[in-house]
Amino acid sequence: MTPRNEAVTFTAGAEAEPGLPAAGSVGPVLEVDGVTKIYHSQPPVTALRGVSFAVRPGELAAIVGPSGSGKTTLLHLMGTLDRPSSGVVRLAGIDVAALDDREVAQLRAARIGFVFQQFFLAEHETVLDNVADGLLYAGIRLAERRRQALDALDLVGLAARSGARPTQLSGGQRQRVAIARALAGQPDIVLADEPTGNLDQATGQSILGLLEALHGRGVTIMIITHDQGIAARLPRRIEMLDGRVVADSAQPRPEQP
Ligand code: ADP
Ligand code: MG
Repeated sequence: MTPRNEAVTFTAGAEAEPGLPAAGSVGPVLEVDGVTKIYHSQPPVTALRGVSFAVRPGELAAIVGPSGSGKTTLLHLMGTLDRPSSGVVRLAGIDVAALDDREVAQLRAARIGFVFQQFFLAEHETVLDNVADGLLYAGIRLAERRRQALDALDLVGLAARSGARPTQLSGGQRQRVAIARALAGQPDIVLADEPTGNLDQATGQSILGLLEALHGRGVTIMIITHDQGIAARLPRRIEMLDGRVVADSAQPRPEQP
């Protein structure tokens, strides 16, 4: 399929004149700097042990590692859904720790799109309104939210199903709706946690193809996966093991802790 809609365009550093870096557009979208995470459970669990990397506008990267390596913990920290025990997370250059909970929620809503394995769609709402809900924070009127939602649905090839309920769609179509919802606010970065985990092989491949096509339009995407086959086809791989980054294809020789 070919996502195509001129009303919704994603370009890294959209404020820049062609060939000229604009202030604020050249730095990383996301920086994770020396981050640790200890869960104060009984017994305590150290889930992240000093994780550092930066994501630049327009990147498509995998965070890959086996179960228990810390991927979901890292996603929660990158997505400002949780705070690190130590270290710094910066989103668009902003240190998340400097913000109160309300400010963090605003930053998250404006700048991050989430895609989850389980889709998390509202079954009683239309496809269009599921996507329009992704813009609730923005204080935009319903008619305008729906217009932008339709643009996002067009990007994922589902504009024609905007009046359907999620229950009338296949798993792959539901995940496309969830991706449209993540894109609707034109976030700085899309964080996808095992986005093909609930899909059969062929459908998963088509969702990956969609994410690659969106990357081709300039959308910045991180795909969290335990699947080395998925990671292998992405331009950048950050490999996790036991709470550490053990390899980052963008940094061939990471510092050893
Ligand atoms: P992954 O997503 O790679 O499977 P997780 O980030 O879910 O890894 O888990 C990393 C480690 O942290 C595991 O040992 C897990 O058991 C532990 N863990 C995750 N969440 C919690 C929690 N809320 N409380 C205590 N331990 C947790
Ligand atoms: Mg996980």
